[in-house]
Amino acid sequence: KENPNAPLYNLNNQAARLYNMLLTSTELGQKAQAYLEKRGITAEIIKAFNLGLAPEEQDFIYQNLSSKFDEAVMAKSGLFRYSNNRTFDAFSNRIMFPVTNEYGHVVAFSGRKWQENDESRGKYINTQATEIYDKSFELFHLDKAKPTISKSKEVYLMEGPMDVIAAYKAGIFNVVATMGTALTEKHVRRLKKLAKKYILLYDGDNAGQNAIYKALDLLGQKQTEIVRIPEGMDPDEYAKSYSYEALAKLMTEGRIQPLEFLMDYQRPANLNNLQSQLDFLEEMTAEIVKLPSITSQDLYIRKLVELLPDFDYQQVEQAVNLRRENN
Ligand code: ATP
Ligand code: MN
Ligand code: MN
Ligand code: MN
Repeated sequence: KENPNAPLYNLNNQAARLYNMLLTSTELGQKAQAYLEKRGITAEIIKAFNLGLAPEEQDFIYQNLSSKFDEAVMAKSGLFRYSNNRTFDAFSNRIMFPVTNEYGHVVAFSGRKWQENDESRGKYINTQATEIYDKSFELFHLDKAKPTISKSKEVYLMEGPMDVIAAYKAGIFNVVATMGTALTEKHVRRLKKLAKKYILLYDGDNAGQNAIYKALDLLGQKQTEIVRIPEGMDPDEYAKSYSYEALAKLMTEGRIQPLEFLMDYQRPANLNNLQSQLDFLEEMTAEIVKLPSITSQDLYIRKLVELLPDFDYQQVEQAVNLRRENN
């Protein structure tokens, strides 16, 4: 029996082909390619990620595909919007990143602004939820990343397609992205089936750090590592500033344990008064006793001593021992 969603997959696939053709074979596409080139996206990447361009016309895709698909299928595809009894393309004048599901079917798009004078809303816009697209379930590039995830049992998590492409250029393929959505239980359930270790590589800004903190809770500290990107950068910008080799090195050798992240993330701005030190000591000992070995506990006791001006090694160790006994 035919998959009832086949027409939706087919429509998205044909749209992706049109977008790709517009990027690779038109005059506007040449300009868009110049923008992409500046961002390190070559013809090879355009091909590998099936990138495209939504044209400036407001209904190009609709005009090209409306004779081939039922109106009902078009209406529920998320590719069009309806206004004043007319149908318009949901995306115009954007670089198009197709989102594929686990089986490689195109199920949605993410479109990025690229022209300097573009005043439309949102740097990126994504396809709304449809019968085949649930943003809290899909992960960008999972279909292509799956073999290397299954093999290494490790998966890197990033914020967006540009970062995944940077990792790809750095030769690291077991990478997926959530695309602006917070990581959900559904994402995590899928990843748990494939990997034993999760490596978070979110942007080096406040939003990124808060997202790491939340993701740690969902993924579990034991199975997770973190790569911190320098302040104000993301993985893509890191590769552009240093090199793709440097990004690969950071991703493989620059991983830290969750507690090292938490010690920084939860550290109050001011640790000069005794009360703030006591509070922080309390929070951190609760984490330290969860560590599996005495050696690693000792490592973090030492790190903590460094941060607390009024406590020495013995006092912190005693606090940890007390906490262990009370657990
Ligand atoms: P670029 O390098 O092209 O600016 P980015 O990935 O660095 O992209 P961020 O601002 O760091 O962009 O946002 C992370 C992700 O969140 C994006 O990749 C995109 O998927 C999503 N996102 C960003 N801005 C928006 C927006 N205005 N609406 C919806 N999603 C967005
Ligand atoms: Mn960001
Ligand atoms: Mn970013
Ligand atoms: Mn970026």
